[in-house]
Amino acid sequence: MELSSRATSLTPSLTLSIDSKAKAMKAEGLDVCGFGAGEPDFDTPEHIKAAAMAALETGFTKYTPSSGILELRQAIADKFLADNKIEYKPSQIIVSNGAKHSCYNAILAVCEPGDEVIIPAPYWLSYPEMVRLAGAEPVFVQTTEANGWKMTPEEFENAMTPRTKMVIINSPGNPTGSVYTREELQALGEVALGEDIFILSDEIYEKLTYDETEHVSIASISPELYNLTITINGFSKAYSMTGWRLGYLGAPESIAKAIDSIQSHSTSNPCSFAQKGGLAALKGSQQAMSDMRAEFEMRRNYMYDRLSKIPNISAVKPLGAFYILVNISRLSLTSQNFADRLLSKANVAVVPGIAFGDDRTLRFSYATSMDVIKNGLDRFEEFCRTL
Ligand code: PMP
Repeated sequence: MELSSRATSLTPSLTLSIDSKAKAMKAEGLDVCGFGAGEPDFDTPEHIKAAAMAALETGFTKYTPSSGILELRQAIADKFLADNKIEYKPSQIIVSNGAKHSCYNAILAVCEPGDEVIIPAPYWLSYPEMVRLAGAEPVFVQTTEANGWKMTPEEFENAMTPRTKMVIINSPGNPTGSVYTREELQALGEVALGEDIFILSDEIYEKLTYDETEHVSIASISPELYNLTITINGFSKAYSMTGWRLGYLGAPESIAKAIDSIQSHSTSNPCSFAQKGGLAALKGSQQAMSDMRAEFEMRRNYMYDRLSKIPNISAVKPLGAFYILVNISRLSLTSQNFADRLLSKANVAVVPGIAFGDDRTLRFSYATSMDVIKNGLDRFEEFCRTL
């Protein structure tokens, strides 16, 4: 019996394989410093948990509208207007089971076999697989460290063909930590507008920017770009709610309607009581989020300072998210080989860049304690000396 080519064409997640090796070593009692985390190491703020618990206690445990409860969609619309200067009506908002689900819904609604989707590399590893699941083809644009791992308008234009349907922009970016400026987004937007290319703007790390860097939403730049853009965001990173599975998107009415149909026949509504938690997250105190952001900034500064002093490697100082991408191209090891040796010889887990489509790099996450960061960097420094 054969499985579908859709299923068999997927690449198993490399991040998970390093992670399971690191976990197995920890289970054996080894002291492993893990830089692999893709989620904040903070608990969900208490008032958000209390709202979900109250929802459970009062029996808010049934189906909701498939796109989410109106109250939450209204709160999201208010957030988009206040934080991002984008005007969406609640009917243009779809709440889903995580921003990952929102991305997949958006790709399914827009892309089909024969279409191409432009993805700047290094990229978040799920984008290409989602595009393939939709039957479309990912087209990668290799960005450079010299340009801060950001795609230029020329690179974007050169990757365009008559089959291009969509471009994915992820700012602040995973794994790069790069943040596109308003001018850069404007220039990329002009290229997209020239050929009527849809833009998937994944803004999940919006709240985690440093050095007073401004986060700009491409849909806010002009009405023309608004009409082409699906803006994706969620609760996982800003409110440390990764396990709640709650994300959302805003899109032009016709796209939102199509996405609602897809969702209504595949997963139905996102979890009812998680939605009440999401509502409390948006409407309640933002203090926990800003404390978390400040802690991440402090860790980033420390980690970047130390990494930038190690010979033969380099890194761009990230302006957002919680990752530092280290360029190891001057050392003659593949990223997988480097990460494997680092784990087995120094008990330090990092994610090999090949997982993100770039074999010259390693991703270090600073979503871990300062103790692990200090200890892990001591070991990494020592390991690099032996190369
Ligand atoms: N986009 C990017 C760039 C991410 O890094 C992640 C989480 N790793 C997501 C989307 C998905 O987040 P969620 O937990 O809301 O599905």
